Amino acid sequence: MNGATTQIPLTIPVRVEGGRGWQQRSPWVARTEAFMVRHRSKLAWLHVAMFFGFMALMIVPLWLPLPPDGATFYNNFTTFANFVIWGLWFPLVFVSVIFTGRSWCGILCPLGASSEWANRIGFKRPVPRWVRWEGTPVVSFIVITVLAQTVDARGFPQGIAVVFGLAFACAVVLGFAYGKGLNKRPWCRHMCPIGLMLGVFSRIGAVQFVPKRPQPGGDAYAQKGVCPTMIDLKRKEESRHCIECFRCVGPTASGGLALALRKPGTEVAHIRRHNPNAAEIWFLFLATGLAMGGFLWLILPQYGALRQTVGLWAIDRGWDWLGNSGPWWLMSVHPQGREIYTWLDFFTISGFMLAFAVLLTVVLTLLTGLSSWIAGRLGADLDLRRRFVEQAYAYMPVAMVSLVVGLGSELFGAIHLVGLPLWAVSALKIALFGLGMSWSLVLGYRLVGAQGLAGGRRVLALLPLLAGVAFVGLEWWPAIFGA
Ligand code: SF4
Ligand code: SF4
Repeated sequence: MNGATTQIPLTIPVRVEGGRGWQQRSPWVARTEAFMVRHRSKLAWLHVAMFFGFMALMIVPLWLPLPPDGATFYNNFTTFANFVIWGLWFPLVFVSVIFTGRSWCGILCPLGASSEWANRIGFKRPVPRWVRWEGTPVVSFIVITVLAQTVDARGFPQGIAVVFGLAFACAVVLGFAYGKGLNKRPWCRHMCPIGLMLGVFSRIGAVQFVPKRPQPGGDAYAQKGVCPTMIDLKRKEESRHCIECFRCVGPTASGGLALALRKPGTEVAHIRRHNPNAAEIWFLFLATGLAMGGFLWLILPQYGALRQTVGLWAIDRGWDWLGNSGPWWLMSVHPQGREIYTWLDFFTISGFMLAFAVLLTVVLTLLTGLSSWIAGRLGADLDLRRRFVEQAYAYMPVAMVSLVVGLGSELFGAIHLVGLPLWAVSALKIALFGLGMSWSLVLGYRLVGAQGLAGGRRVLALLPLLAGVAFVGLEWWPAIFGA
């Protein structure tokens, strides 16, 4: 047996949520941890490779002619790049949070690594309050998601370049300007729209990093220390901000953090002990509605009617400029691709998406509010606001499946292209959706139970929440199944 193997501490106990206090980890979890720590320094090479790979997917298509009709990902590079980004990367990174948490962020993402490289040579100013505001990543998510639609990032390589170029620029500038101490990533903690999604959904994931010597006092922010996302390590309670960089992990140390596994959904079922946060809930509601609006404007006839009404209304007022196209970095202007958006398109697409986001948020707020109110009347603990925040976490699985199935349509298109018949692709989507909805209901049941209700009272309080889950499913129906 060599030295490295004998040093692996298989017996370090860690507190696993939902378990019975301190537990031994399985040997292969400890071995995985030791492997990652041993090769931590090599991650920089992986980041460099990912950086050049991502740049190639983003930049090379800009110099190529648009794909001809009938081009596929195996005979045209532009279509291939589009498929890798939207058909593989986007849905698979999402799904990966269930199994490996934010491993994309810590191990592979070139954007976060670039931000950190900039931080090493930057000003290292303290992160200002406007960046630290909980709503900042939600605003960033809304801006990037709407922009991705108006520049048609799914249809044209220029759109991909605008969206990811903007994100790259912001990540580097923010990393250069802010973040005191060692290699900080203020962009990843506070502003990255992808990080926000992955962070929120990592709460239902199977992977966690737990303090070996936890301190009470609740989750806290620490600009000093090794953590690039400013987590106060000893007081870490939630998975959201952990990008799994392994820098706080020392397999042979008695302090620091340790890698541990848990049943998916455990952190959410016990959300009370894991820093529940109202901003996450607003994000969950708004993001689901925004994603829906981003898909539905393409297929619903009501969007065409809305566009026409707004256009006629503008003509009556002499606002002819609405019929002109605007700058390429704000809207799709592709004469060769037979697509030129005007200001009218820009405003109606963004308005439609935002209206959907608000609509879904209002409906889910009312239904969750009703559930929380009923729970209170039936004897649940906490005040109405805290009950509402806790219960709203139940929407996580169905929201996640909505985003994967709805926005990852290229993946399903490719699955069909490689031989799966259309009926089987639809069945796969139905199965995923069924799984998401059932998981949401189980979580809702557990969350209401954790508030002190049992039996019939628990079921009664759950009914409006159930209606909310069904509402999300029904809203996606035409987008996903074309019915
Ligand atoms: S938070 Fe965003 S930029 Fe940072 S590592 Fe994750 S995906 Fe990349
Ligand atoms: S908690 Fe540890 S593993 Fe997670 S981001 Fe911070 S330093 Fe990296």
